[in-house]
Parts: sequence; structure tokens; C-alpha cells
Amino acid sequence: MGRAITVRDMISVEEARERILSHFSRLEPETKPITDGLGQVLAQDVRSDFDIPPLDNTAMDGYAVIAADTDGASEASPVRLRVAGDLAAGYIYEGTVTPGTAVRIMTGASIPGGADSIVPFEETDEALDGPKLETEVAVLKAVQPGANVRKAGEDVRKGETVLPKDAVLHAAQIGLLASVGKAEVSVYRRPVVAILSTGDELLDVGEPVMPGKIYDSNAYSVSSMVVEAGGIPQRLGIAADTVDALTVKLREGLEADMLVTSAGVSRGDFDVVKDVLAKEGKPLACGAFSTENGHVPHIGLPGNPVSSMVTFELFGRPAIYKMLGKAGWQRPRVTAVAKERIVNEDGRRVYARAILTRNGDGDHEASLTGPQGSGILTSMALANALAIVPEDALAIEPGQQVECLLLE
Ligand code: AMP
Ligand code: MG
Repeated sequence: MGRAITVRDMISVEEARERILSHFSRLEPETKPITDGLGQVLAQDVRSDFDIPPLDNTAMDGYAVIAADTDGASEASPVRLRVAGDLAAGYIYEGTVTPGTAVRIMTGASIPGGADSIVPFEETDEALDGPKLETEVAVLKAVQPGANVRKAGEDVRKGETVLPKDAVLHAAQIGLLASVGKAEVSVYRRPVVAILSTGDELLDVGEPVMPGKIYDSNAYSVSSMVVEAGGIPQRLGIAADTVDALTVKLREGLEADMLVTSAGVSRGDFDVVKDVLAKEGKPLACGAFSTENGHVPHIGLPGNPVSSMVTFELFGRPAIYKMLGKAGWQRPRVTAVAKERIVNEDGRRVYARAILTRNGDGDHEASLTGPQGSGILTSMALANALAIVPEDALAIEPGQQVECLLLE
């Protein structure tokens, strides 16, 4: 069989998630340009072959000097030094700074030999008179040895691991990879998620409105959630409620890393996903679709648009994370004060669509987005959080605390 667990089985969300996740594992690594790896997980340690910065360099625009030369300098009695050269970032000064001399230098340029400190422009007569071509500078304030010098290797030491295996690549990590000169990176591959909508009532966007039909929204909301979680959606389209139609479409998804179907898993007379999966698939503990041509873990989402999204949130997203190598990743949660009553009608855990705001004291408050029917997709579109009513609570009353899963 291939059906994922539904709440009707009345096991906990956590147990269902654990069972489903047991069918997924981290995917193999791929090598790609660093910018393409954003959001993916490093498959190996990254070391630097050199120090960063590579040489001692100046943190300020100013003059490279020998600090001892500036002893006693003040505005009343400036120290005059001969300007022996001018150095921009990216160049090496060929000469040596000797006592009584200075080299004009720009931020990032390597400290010339002989110099041990930088006097910023602000502490010279250049600040008073503006840039000069003159050969002499007046230092208005003494500097200490090492002043305004960034030491070689202060960021990264040669040979050091700058990013360990399993690090997630965000913007700073991508920048760090570039700073150690890596054009490519090895990361765990993104999963391809095949998405199939089922139901005779479904039209695809672009088709004309027809009496009795509705547009397939699940394929679009779920494929967007796949992208958000870091996967690559493969939309298989719509299958009619016949065994043949469904079989053909399901087989197109066998190359994927995960198969997600929506609808047809409840008890409707024409819901055939279960039947086909039972016939086509070899029985597995749960959620795997397997034929002689291939094997792909399967999650069967409910048809109702809100249920479909919430179910994917609870089970599909963690499966994608696991394949990406982000084991244990979860959406952040906060505890909020309920602004209105949130009911639990049937003893199952409720994920109510909520708008989370902060009151004047900085505390989170949760209100509902309106009617909570599982077919009311606008309730989801307005929400920035899901407010969780536990299985054993009949309701959360106004003023009581409620745990919320942040959607943004
Ligand atoms: P089912 O699981 O087939 O009983 O469907 C439950 C409800 O969800 C029915 O009202 C269906 O019309 C609706 N539904 C099923 N699939 C989709 C879909 N892809 N997009 C929007 N609504 C759907
Ligand atoms: Mg149906």
C-alpha cells in the first residue's frame, strides 16, 4: 500500500511524522556554483588555503608611520613627516618606511615595511586642508604601535576549517566561501517532489470555468511550499478519479524523491488513490509507492485546500528537510495569548489559522483569520501562524496561552 497516515488513524502527529520520516534519508551530494547552494547543507568541511586578510593592512585611510616618530605630537606641536609615497588598496609598497617618513595609504592596503601603525587623515593636517600633493604631513596626535592595523589572519587562519560539514549556507556562509576563493561547493542535493492532484472536479488554471468544477489549488499551494522548504516541485497535473488515469500519472512521478498526492485518501465513493496504491504498490509500513520500475516515498494529502497545506506543513516539509540534510529543523514557535476562543470540535489536534501580533508590552497575541473550515483557503492566506489546540483541550479561551507555529 502507499497511503500516508491520516489523522483518522488517530496516532499522534509526532508518531505519524516519525513513521513517515523513516522512509526518507539525506540525498547524495552535488557540486555546484556557490550562489546556487544558498539554503543547502555542506557535504564536506571547507578549509582556507591562506590567511584572511592575507597581509597586515590598514583599517583607515591615513598615513603609515613608525609610531615612535609621533611621540608627543599634538595640535599645538605637530610632528612633521616626509611623505615618501602613496599606496592604494591592492598594491604592495616597494620601499621601506624609515624614521621621519610616512606613506599615504588607503583602507585595505598592505602596511608598508618598516611602518607599524596608521595615523588616520583626521589626525593630520590633511583633515584641515584637504588632500594635498605636498611632500610633508603634520601629525596632530601620537599613535600607539599597531594602531588601525588589521593583522594578517585575524579573520581566518591558513588551514582553518571556516565552515564545517552540515553547515547551512546562508548569505554570510556564501560570502565566506567566496572569501576563501571557492567558486564551487559540495552540498546535499535538493529533492524533487512530484505533486499530483486527483479528482474529476478539478480544472487547471487557464482552463475555462465550468459548472460543477473547481480549480486545482492544491498543486500550486503545495508546489510553492516545496520551493519554500528547499525542494524542486515536479507538477504531474491532474488525474481523474479512475484507476487508469491515476496509474498513468503516478508512474510519471517515479523518478522523484517524494510523491505527494492530494485528495482521494478519505472515504468518498470515488476516491481511488488508496485502491491504486494498494494494487500498484508493494505493501510497506507506510507511505511508500513501489513498483518494479521504481520506489518513491509517498505522502497522501487530504483534498481540502487548508488540510492539504497544513498536512504538507507537518509531514512534507520535515521530509524535505531530512533529504536536504537539515535533520531536526523546525519552524519557530512562540507562546501567544489568545484574543478569542479557539475551539476543538473532535478531540484531534487543531491547527487554527491565526494572525499573530505584538501588544504594547511586546507579548504575542493570536486572533483567528475568520471561519476555519478546511475548505476555506482565504483563512490560510490571511494567516501568519498556526495556533495549536491540543487533542485533549475542548477550547482555548480568550486570555489563555496558546502555542503558535510561525509561518513567516
Ligand atoms: P476528497 O479528498 O477527494 O474527498 O476532496 C475533499 C475536498 O477537497 C473536496 O471538496 C474536493 O473538491 C477538494 N479538493 C480536492 N482536490 C483539490 C484540489 N487539488 N484543489 C482544490 N480543492 C480540492
Ligand atoms: Mg475527491
